[in-house]
Amino acid sequence: MAIVGSGPAGFYTASRVLSKLPQAKIDMYEALPVPFGLVRHGVAPDHPEVKNCQDRFDEIASSPNFTFVGNVTVGDSDQSGRHCTVELPSLMRHYDSILLAYGAAEDKKLGIFGESTLTGIYSAREFVGWYNGLPDCANLHPDLTRGEDAVIIGQGNVALDVARMLLEDIDTLRKTDITEHALSRLAESRVKRVHIAAFTIKEARELMKLPDVAFHPVNRTLIPQDLKSLPRASKRLMEVLLKGTPGADPLETSKSWSLDSCLSPKHFLARSDSPNSVASTEFDVTTLADPFDPKSRVEKTGEAIILPSDIVLRSVGYKSIPLPGFIEAGIQFDEMRGIVCNDGFGRVTRLVSDSDASSRASQQVPGLYCAGWLKRGPTGVIASTMQDAFTTGDAIAQDWLSGASFLGSHKEFSQAHGWEGVKEEIGLDQARRVVTWDQWKMIDTLERSRGEARGKEREKFTNVADMLAVLD
Ligand code: FAD
Repeated sequence: MAIVGSGPAGFYTASRVLSKLPQAKIDMYEALPVPFGLVRHGVAPDHPEVKNCQDRFDEIASSPNFTFVGNVTVGDSDQSGRHCTVELPSLMRHYDSILLAYGAAEDKKLGIFGESTLTGIYSAREFVGWYNGLPDCANLHPDLTRGEDAVIIGQGNVALDVARMLLEDIDTLRKTDITEHALSRLAESRVKRVHIAAFTIKEARELMKLPDVAFHPVNRTLIPQDLKSLPRASKRLMEVLLKGTPGADPLETSKSWSLDSCLSPKHFLARSDSPNSVASTEFDVTTLADPFDPKSRVEKTGEAIILPSDIVLRSVGYKSIPLPGFIEAGIQFDEMRGIVCNDGFGRVTRLVSDSDASSRASQQVPGLYCAGWLKRGPTGVIASTMQDAFTTGDAIAQDWLSGASFLGSHKEFSQAHGWEGVKEEIGLDQARRVVTWDQWKMIDTLERSRGEARGKEREKFTNVADMLAVLD
């Protein structure tokens, strides 16, 4: 089996397949020389405990039936000349089965005026990638000295991670695996007030606990009078918001944050002295038809407000994209939801017209499976990604054991050549650039010792050339 992507979805599916089909051979293709996807490049540096799943991934990779094929992008053309690329049809020729688990590497846009023309507006995905050392985002260099007000448009845990990075004490961050280039920018930051939208209880609590950071009281009309009638999680969240940060007055602390709910971004406004730079954001004020049901209809009230915005972070979600070769392979991609169409158990499906040509049904694309954010859409934590990957792993094992069709002719012992076959096809020159698991371990060891010298867990390499130079 070939797995495309080395994030939690790829690893947890591999683990399930290996436990159910011990003779299976798995080759995991990863675009970067380093594994673990968003566990390395997404999870906030001040949440090191979340990254403990890497120990489990290490165990999976130590199986003699597992091969890491790092620095290989599936389905893309190589622009840098440094990494290796493999086309999807090539994988289809050499494997019985392919698991697509390459996550969501793009971001959604707001589609409002000024978004792509004014400076000072960043996507939260790029900002997160920048502080976490994702090579594609290493050169973002966000300007945090433009002024004191930051606006985060969007909701969810990513927005709250970004807010925490902007507000957290720099000496606390120094002990984490945040990159040095991010630390030096954040140390110079002038941002004092962060405006954000919705969140979950854990992260809201964390923000409330940051030293020398106050919470601006929430609009009381958004909180029900009778908290007892609410579901438990909502009730706890409302209590946290009402309590705020005891003893911290926004007028006295050096930094503060607020929740500015029920706002819909209308457009960005430029600075009068610098017409290419963002100065503020105008929002339509909205209301929910039922204020305490988040799924209820949103209506504009006719009012608008302007929030000062020296820097804007757009956090409206990640987005998956189809790989070149999907159409030829019969793989259907749902552009609206940003997922590979599947039967819910991870079997990739395509639409077919049935015999009377008037109705359509879905049919499995033999041997093709998906997992993780690419299967469900870009939401969910590592634990839910794991459960979902187990479901896909079970479907693969069940299909194999029941004699369903796969990519090659299904035999009890497959004749597929896997990575050896692909290697022959792409040629030695490209294959030489592949990073093995042992080579990743060399990069890992050096990152840890660079970190140790600075009193932190690790100092990541932030570009592919530096990672590969370790192996020379
Ligand atoms: P990913 O982790 O994105 O892995 C996909 C992998 O595929 C990547 O390594 C990528 O490089 C590779 N790839 C992409 N394209 C190709 C290609 N063409 N060829 C080969 N390889 C390719 N969860 C928690 O439990 N706790 C947290 O604190 C937490 N914080 C988060 C913070 C942020 C900012 C984000 C975005 C997510 C966070 N999550 C957190 C969620 C968690 O990271 C995801 O649930 C999980 O990583 C999704 O796994 P995945 O394998 O589907 O995708």
